[in-house]
Amino acid sequence: MNSNDCIFCKIAAGEIPCSKVFEDDSVIAFLDIAPVSVGHTLVVPKGHYEELDRCPSHLLGDLIGCVGRIARAIAGATGAEGYNVLCNTGRAAGQVVDHVHFHVIPRVSGDGVFSHWPAGEYEKGQAEEVLASICEKL
Ligand code: 5GP
Ligand code: ZN
Repeated sequence: MNSNDCIFCKIAAGEIPCSKVFEDDSVIAFLDIAPVSVGHTLVVPKGHYEELDRCPSHLLGDLIGCVGRIARAIAGATGAEGYNVLCNTGRAAGQVVDHVHFHVIPRVSGDGVFSHWPAGEYEKGQAEEVLASICEKL
């Protein structure tokens, strides 16, 4: 997908309406059209980058700074006791819109959102193996 047929590029360009939470030169944030909880907001770079690891680090810095500021405002406005920040990357991880975005999802105790965290455990030697492999690629 390129920026011409990208829904978030169109929102950033003002061609498609949104419930805008925040905007500056490089970032726009707006309410998710299908919220997981009230106040669920998407924080999006105006430039078109499909995946987080393709986004320049200075822009990621700007983005995450906005995420923190916006998350505090959302929590204050909704009475949330906490929030999740998610960046789905790739189809396997649930990414549907191929333009980098952070979800900020306000939470209250017992709300049932993400109620199951599928924690597992490593087999013998598996952690060491994956650790070495990751470090090699950095
Ligand atoms: P992803 O699964 O790619 O991380 O999430 C994409 C998100 O974008 C979804 O939560 C979806 O509801 C939201 N979304 C998709 N199209 C639109 C739209 O046109 N406007 C708004 N505000 N949100 C959208
Ligand atoms: Zn885009």
